[in-house]
Amino acid sequence: MPYKAYRDVNKTKEIESSKTTLADVGKQFYCKTENCKALMSLVNGGDSERAFFRRKTNSPAHISNFCSADGNFDPTEYEETKFNPDDIFAKIINPANKTDGTIGKGTTTATGGGGKKAISTVHKIYCMCRKYDVYNGYLSDDILVDERNFTRYQHRIEGNRLVQCTPYCKVYKELEYKMNYPSYPYTNGKLLKLKFASKELFWKYYHKFEDKNPNSFVVILGNWQECDSDEFIAECVINKSRQIYFLEI
Ligand SMILES: [Zn+2]
Repeated sequence: MPYKAYRDVNKTKEIESSKTTLADVGKQFYCKTENCKALMSLVNGGDSERAFFRRKTNSPAHISNFCSADGNFDPTEYEETKFNPDDIFAKIINPANKTDGTIGKGTTTATGGGGKKAISTVHKIYCMCRKYDVYNGYLSDDILVDERNFTRYQHRIEGNRLVQCTPYCKVYKELEYKMNYPSYPYTNGKLLKLKFASKELFWKYYHKFEDKNPNSFVVILGNWQECDSDEFIAECVINKSRQIYFLEI
């Protein structure tokens, strides 16, 4: 569900879906990725909050999974002023907080006033960051580590961050897992190490990772730190299932 595309086949006129008008509905657009031949159509054109681009069914396939990595995020479902990444990250990562993966899809933290919910899941934070550069005054660039800010994060990821990556393989003789950042394959891509708070949690994700298509994205919320081995640019501990989201694209 990309939010950007080009108006012209030579890809000189970029357009954001939120800036489209009703007059754009039915027009042909071109994928935002360089060298990708996919042809796009506009969905919900003229609706600045809900508009996005979609590959036409008779179009060539996308050349990269980054083309369509953006999840669908409808801002009208959430109260932007209640968004506070530090609070959410602490709740999701903190091992003392027993709440785990039993929380249903879309469950959010209800806080007083206004009636609308704040974003509270890794999935929705990811989708929001793919759509907006700034949300409630917080920079997406400081929250989500993905292919768009590879230059900034390629040598070091530190602190609480969402990281978009793909599963690679188990670490030899350890209950740890290697991940490719920002995806596989990627020129000069980097490796991350996932540690797990328990054996059970490791094996649960070992099986999930091994079953996944190597191109599928996983979004990990971790408190990232420097790793002893320079094979990895960073490592984090998975305490709870809520820290991991498998993105279907
Ligand atoms: Zn594409």
